[in-house]
Amino acid sequence: MKSIYDFTLQELEEYFIKIGEKKFKANQVYDWLYKKRVTSFDEMTNLKKEVIEKLKQDFTMEELVVLAKQKDTDVEKYLFGLSDHQKVEAVLMHHDYGKSLCVSTEVGCNMGCAFCESGRLKKVRNLTPSEMVLQLLQIEKLSHLRITHVVLMGIGEPFDNFSNVMKFVEILKQPKGIELGARHITISTCGIVPKIKEFMNLQDQVNLAISLHAPNNELRNKLMPINKAYPLEVLIPTLKEYIEKTHRRLTFEYIMLKNVNDTEECAKELCELLKGMNCYVNLIPYNETSHFEFQKSDQKQVMKFYDSLKKNKINVTVRREFGSKVMAACGQLRSHHEEG
Ligand code: SAH
Repeated sequence: MKSIYDFTLQELEEYFIKIGEKKFKANQVYDWLYKKRVTSFDEMTNLKKEVIEKLKQDFTMEELVVLAKQKDTDVEKYLFGLSDHQKVEAVLMHHDYGKSLCVSTEVGCNMGCAFCESGRLKKVRNLTPSEMVLQLLQIEKLSHLRITHVVLMGIGEPFDNFSNVMKFVEILKQPKGIELGARHITISTCGIVPKIKEFMNLQDQVNLAISLHAPNNELRNKLMPINKAYPLEVLIPTLKEYIEKTHRRLTFEYIMLKNVNDTEECAKELCELLKGMNCYVNLIPYNETSHFEFQKSDQKQVMKFYDSLKKNKINVTVRREFGSKVMAACGQLRSHHEEG
């Protein structure tokens, strides 16, 4: 049975029309689900009894199971169990500008990035829109907080689960529901070019972030196998097209890996690669995990890299370090839970 949280407002309207009811009932249901946040159909008291019974027959409102929770000063991490006993995680981060939630989009990941914990478990399946929506609803309930920003940077590759992810985004944005501004939502991808093209044609205001992590093909091939399918000479022109078409500024994520991609030479190459693009680079401290050899760059090296980009007029920030104590890197809590 499908979850009611899988449905966009329009799909729910179509459902009501199909069962011979007025389509505005979808507005009422949305109001109960996303404004009043009830957790059972019986609480939807402005609906007729027959309608409630019909909804109960056709949909579930089942929540995810919270298997573990870890808390630090500025970060809370949740491990969720799904109905088929798979596990995914979500991370709530406290910023001075608001609360952002990092959502998982798949169980496991097939992208196989050399440094990433998530990909140690190959993709088992896509998450459904409801499984993404419920990460947000349940964390808001448990933490008594309102989430102001959503980033699709948890386990999984969002563009490898394109239609469910776009449905999730639509549900997030729906003014009659969660009502999150498109500009407060960021999709992060390792660079699946055909999906970037599809995304740019949607004329949406949702932000796009690209996990770059290397300024040349030789190194990027080693770190991110996706680069063999869509190398930089294909990816970068696509991104320039994206910027031209959407007039949106693009974010590049760049994990700082000691003696791998943090050298002066790499900084120079990166400047050359991104010259003239409306973008900014987010330098990310690597969250070390016991399963890989990679180490995080020294602070001094990060600052040198930063200065080098600044000097070349590339917009650059160093990401604040979140929750290294609570294993906040993607997939770390899940794999810890699994292996005890
Ligand atoms: N698959 C998507 C989104 C999920 S990963 C993507 O590749 O963008 C989200 C971000 O976290 C990516 O930039 C990824 O490279 C990065 N990441 C993965 N492992 C990390 C680690 N151990 N420390 C810091 N960042 C990490």
